Amino acid sequence: MNTPDNRKKHFTTHLVSWHHNDNSRSLPWKSEKDPYRIWLSEIILQQTRAAQGLPYYLKFTTDYPTIAALAAAPDEEVFRAWQGLGYYNRCKNMLATARYIANELGGVFPRDYEGIVALKGIGPYTAAAIASFAYGLPHAVVDGNVYRVLSRYFGIETPFDTTEGKKIFASLATELLDTGNSPGYNQAIMDLGATVCTPRNPSCTSCPLQRNCIAYHQGLTLLLPVRSKKIQVATRYFNYLLLEYNGALWVNKRTGQDIWASLHEPYLIETEAPITLEVLKANAAFLALGLSYANINFSGAGTQKLTHRIIKSSFFTISLNTMPSGLPEAGIWAAPDGLAKIAFPKTVLSFLKNNLYF
Ligand code: SF4
Repeated sequence: MNTPDNRKKHFTTHLVSWHHNDNSRSLPWKSEKDPYRIWLSEIILQQTRAAQGLPYYLKFTTDYPTIAALAAAPDEEVFRAWQGLGYYNRCKNMLATARYIANELGGVFPRDYEGIVALKGIGPYTAAAIASFAYGLPHAVVDGNVYRVLSRYFGIETPFDTTEGKKIFASLATELLDTGNSPGYNQAIMDLGATVCTPRNPSCTSCPLQRNCIAYHQGLTLLLPVRSKKIQVATRYFNYLLLEYNGALWVNKRTGQDIWASLHEPYLIETEAPITLEVLKANAAFLALGLSYANINFSGAGTQKLTHRIIKSSFFTISLNTMPSGLPEAGIWAAPDGLAKIAFPKTVLSFLKNNLYF
């Protein structure tokens, strides 16, 4: 039974049979055929657990039931709806793609893999998912769940994040695909990875693939899949000046390629290390603002973990006597009702809410 071909045949047959008979994972986007809704679910679920993404999916499909509705929505409103999901480039690309489809493609989602993968913010995995789930096209999805299941079952020790590894897994996934039932096969492997062949505690005893699984029989389960690089996580120190004047707070929209682009924040001075209030007051960027204030206080701190960064934020509240002249022109003075309509990074939002800014 254990020839490579038999092993592959066993894999696909037992996986699809498990999906048909025993897979009880229930999510609202499963069996969905509308490419817009599938695309929304896939974008929301990138880097996000299903349980966390679910309320966002429900909100987006309720507030923006069609691609035309999403394309017509104001940026600020959509970013606000996305608030808390993180990775805001996803939201930015999603809006750009919705508008491109609405304005340039007559509101019709592309119907083939090449057309889908050419859209902004859509990579091979998402394109394969949309092509398969919406149109039944024979494209195999390859994501973290798939790397894990395939590397364990076939005992593949090649790191999945190398060029060679990506080729091996993509080609194997295509070979294993049940081309007559690509949506069922793709859903099955994703669900098995999410519920049975999980990263830390796989349920091998109830796994339909156990009989021929190399990792299970050779005790390699927790050693696979192999990643070549360890993610380097650097810490950044953000010092926020909460500039208050006449009941309003000064905030500015982040631009450029850095984290949190398009979100608002109070005046930021980034430093190499954490600083105290006294050190802040002597900081050149602080002095350049020429602030005249009645009070200045350290008001709290927060930490937000991103994939490659840890952001440690300190918040300094400053009650101004006069409107400063050295602030960037793009910034705005926002009263509480205005602040409530603006999208902020999670750590800033928590601070503002906890300190009753709105
Ligand atoms: S037997 Fe265990 S390691 Fe192998 S595929 Fe199933 S859950 Fe994963």
